[in-house]
Amino acid sequence: MSKGLPKRSEDYSLWYNELVKKADLAENSAVRGCMVIKPYGYSIWEKMQAELDRMFKETGHTNAYFPLFIPKSYLSKEASHVEGFAKECAVVTHYRLKNSEDGKGVVVDPEAKLEEELIVRPTSETVIWSTYKNWIQSYRDLPLLVNQWANVVRWEMRTRLFLRTAEFLWQEGHTAHATKQEAIDETVQMLNVYATFAESFMALPVVKGVKTPNERFAGAEDTYCIEAMMQDGKALQAGTSHFLGQNFAKAFDVKFATKEGGLDHVWGTSWGVSTRLMGALIMAHSDDNGLVLPPKLAPIQVVIVPIFKSDEELDSISEKAKEIVSKLRKLGVSVHFDHRDTHKPGWKFAEYELKGVPLRIAMGPRDLENNTIELARRDTLTKETINLNEIEIDSFIVAKLDEIQTAIYQKAYDFRTTHTTEVNSWEEFQDVIENKGGFVAAHWDGSSETEDKIKELTKATIRCVPLDQKEEDGKCVLTGNASKGRVLFARAY
Ligand code: AMP
Repeated sequence: MSKGLPKRSEDYSLWYNELVKKADLAENSAVRGCMVIKPYGYSIWEKMQAELDRMFKETGHTNAYFPLFIPKSYLSKEASHVEGFAKECAVVTHYRLKNSEDGKGVVVDPEAKLEEELIVRPTSETVIWSTYKNWIQSYRDLPLLVNQWANVVRWEMRTRLFLRTAEFLWQEGHTAHATKQEAIDETVQMLNVYATFAESFMALPVVKGVKTPNERFAGAEDTYCIEAMMQDGKALQAGTSHFLGQNFAKAFDVKFATKEGGLDHVWGTSWGVSTRLMGALIMAHSDDNGLVLPPKLAPIQVVIVPIFKSDEELDSISEKAKEIVSKLRKLGVSVHFDHRDTHKPGWKFAEYELKGVPLRIAMGPRDLENNTIELARRDTLTKETINLNEIEIDSFIVAKLDEIQTAIYQKAYDFRTTHTTEVNSWEEFQDVIENKGGFVAAHWDGSSETEDKIKELTKATIRCVPLDQKEEDGKCVLTGNASKGRVLFARAY
């Protein structure tokens, strides 16, 4: 059934944009690059947040909140940090408007110029480390394990709903440690939390790896990432975890008295995932009929649609439906009984298909007679008639939701497997990037110049050096220079 969505195979990009709007997830706003997240989209984000927040707390972190505005001078304290972010900062210069002379509007009041300009946070390392200076004196104050949920602003030039916006929602963890090893362990731990979340909840297989110096976070010693593959074969960086070394501690003079009686700079990490994950979720699983949501993140997991001609029919179906609703709710299933008489069942079917509700139960008068339901799966678009005498509806549905969650993951995993290609020559490299897409596992000589050249020639970047990279002697696909292992290249969002 057509919902007026373009086909993925014809125009993937248009399909994505239309789907985001038609499924009521988000829309563009008056300010270019900024978006309105609509209630249905926000309820998926809330589910992501709830789960991530639980995982952060389970690993010992607590939430706090730091200000939106950062004094300009803070940003310049860490040299590579300011260099990385300067190009995309929104700056507040004035704090007041006044009526314009022609009386038709308002203008910035030149007398209300701020003494020090303020940056709208693109990330919060600087404001947080300037605060940590007051919080950390001794090894007893460490580790400090803090997360914040916030919005940030990066003045991106090429924007796309969810994937890359000028303002986005995210969480940013900022931790401080007494030793280098502890900070590295934290960085890897949070990478693993992200990977587990992506795979178990988003049903999204990810590659864990380390970024090359070119792609490293501005101010980090090492950037770890999870990389995912979208259905058009492009890569998406879905989350990052940075080992900051002592860079921010040095920039903000954060020292602590060590156990041994010395004085040392603190070791730091930061890690974040954003509303980009919404884009990843949509792009990885959805189809030409609309969203396909993994049950663990679906705001509505089961919808019940009654098929009736008269009030009497609706009444008797409702009685049965409500029984099912209450059984399912007891097991924590999110179920919606859509008994509106303002829309036809066919309209409702199309709507819930578009919205990615994993299971749809339809019940009509004949079902009541036979004690059956019609059960439709969103991911496979298959239907079956279930005899309620033969099963326990609540445990049956729970098992079905689990089955769907696994199937969606497996489908994405299989897609990634068939779209990951080992190549050994430059011709092969170009051919695969151009004609097949996906991840290309190739040897690289380790130099930034080679990486830049490959990007210039093919638009493919090194997504990561996989953490499970095998040691293997080889030759760089471009230069023929020696290489010790394969890295993953792809065109990326
Ligand atoms: P970073 O601080 O650059 O490591 O980014 C932290 C997280 O935010 C990563 O997971 C990125 O994928 C995500 N991110 C970065 N820039 C944007 C953007 N413009 N829109 C949405 N998400 C972003």
